Amino acid sequence: MPFLEVDAASTSQRCPRCGHTERANRPIRDSFRCRRCGLAGPADVVAGVNVRDRARSAWAFVTMPVPPPA
Ligand SMILES: [Zn+2]
Repeated sequence: MPFLEVDAASTSQRCPRCGHTERANRPIRDSFRCRRCGLAGPADVVAGVNVRDRARSAWAFVTMPVPPPA
């Protein structure tokens, strides 16, 4: 598994719940789904949560939306 540098791209691939970072967390451009814990949400929201990770408060409003059928 390739490990990515810490940059905007990997931020958008990082799970804000368990911290798992993997390219496969982003099955499609606009969607995030953690391969480890299953947390899912809009990718821009996930990236935004990661950016604000120190606040530890932003993720609460994302309520595990059911991902669209592949
Ligand atoms: Zn996760």
